[in-house]
Amino acid sequence: MQSATGHAERSSERVLISLTRAPAAAPRGTLGNTQQRLAFPGVRHRDGTVSARAMAAIVFERVAKVYPDGTRAVDDLTLEIRDGEFVVIVGPSGSGKTTALRMVAGLEEISEGTITIGDRAVNHVPARNRNIAMVFQSYALYPHLSVFENIAFGLRVKKLGRQVIRQRVQQAAELLELETLLDRKPRALSGGQRQRVAMGRAIVREPAVFLMDEPLSNLDAQLRVHTRAEIGRLQRHLGITTIYVTHDQGEAMTMGDSVAVMRTGRLQQFAPPQEVYTRPANAFVGGFIGSPSMNFLKGTIQRSNGDIGVMLGDRKLPLESSVLERRPLLGTYENKQVIVGVRPESMQDAVLVRDAPPDRLLHGTVELREALGPELFVHISTRLQPADTSAVADLPRDTSAVGRPSDSGAMLVGRFDAHSPAHEGGTVDVLVDTASLHFFDPMTGVGIYG
Ligand code: ADP
Repeated sequence: MQSATGHAERSSERVLISLTRAPAAAPRGTLGNTQQRLAFPGVRHRDGTVSARAMAAIVFERVAKVYPDGTRAVDDLTLEIRDGEFVVIVGPSGSGKTTALRMVAGLEEISEGTITIGDRAVNHVPARNRNIAMVFQSYALYPHLSVFENIAFGLRVKKLGRQVIRQRVQQAAELLELETLLDRKPRALSGGQRQRVAMGRAIVREPAVFLMDEPLSNLDAQLRVHTRAEIGRLQRHLGITTIYVTHDQGEAMTMGDSVAVMRTGRLQQFAPPQEVYTRPANAFVGGFIGSPSMNFLKGTIQRSNGDIGVMLGDRKLPLESSVLERRPLLGTYENKQVIVGVRPESMQDAVLVRDAPPDRLLHGTVELREALGPELFVHISTRLQPADTSAVADLPRDTSAVGRPSDSGAMLVGRFDAHSPAHEGGTVDVLVDTASLHFFDPMTGVGIYG
């Protein structure tokens, strides 16, 4: 975690410095008073002004894609993306993310509904006239062309003047720290450098919209964390409306202004990342966003003497009044079953907590202890009932690594402090932060808020 943060900070500084050119005499990395502005349209300057560029809100209105074999890859998608916004479309494989993106790009016909970019419906506008630039997973660089020519390629096709091309490529190279690599061929570049060349090629086109389809999947884990911070930073400075597709919830949480969660072609929730995390619209979103995934249990809401609680197996966990304030509808579930969502980070080894209240403990046996350095992922078998409903059926499960003993109940994954003595085969008391429990309707999977 720490190194990731360190990377992000370093890269943000770098982009900022690159965006504002110091006078020739000033040493590199120091900003003079008379900063010369880059010409890229859309660049947000430090004084708050923004260079002129095309306005490009993107609106999906009841959009569907039906492939010839009848597959409804995208269904009834309505989504409003503001001008300059960075939206991440996230969901498991096959949920329709790429199809949605390709319809914006003009690479797939729109079967139903309308997509608008700026102030025009683009359903019948050819891809080349939509003023968009795409970055794909495979960077699709020309192996026989230098970095300079790869970045310049689209501009040469447009027959722009040599001066303009040189200027734009230089600026993009500076922004992406590719200046010293312009004469190299792609084969002599690292994965991260190739990725930046692909970004450069998109940037020089000065599009109204960036579309990115899993652009980081070919990078190793550490570089991915570093590069996602760079892309986020770059997008904010350029201010260009961006749709970014990924199956990686971590990218969705860290990069976007807003996250659109898809499942089987349908939009589940569209909200800022923190809201998607703290107030998931349904159990699917709750389980998909966050790593390790939310644990799901069967529970029953009970009220006695005015106090509300949730029965999990034979234990009743009390719920604070703040829970009911945030979820007034929960009161209507008295004596009814609910799906209880427990995030791994809402669980702690009780032995590490002084005066852990005994009525907030769950008991289990440690099946697996994964040490990650600063923390542990502890897989715990319990006698509680798992909530195996269709609401959470097609989620990727973290617990799949551990075979569930046939006679036991739900497996829980807890995110414990590294000091926890929990060990495989031993028993453990888990302290649950009941204020941060999630509740979903067992029939529909919809979050219980009100
Ligand atoms: P994602 O990007 O979320 O992985 P896709 O948009 O690629 O999902 O695919 C959504 C659904 O559409 C999947 O069920 C996929 O199999 C199907 N699909 C994609 N392309 C085609 C096609 N050309 N013909 C038929 N079905 C397709």
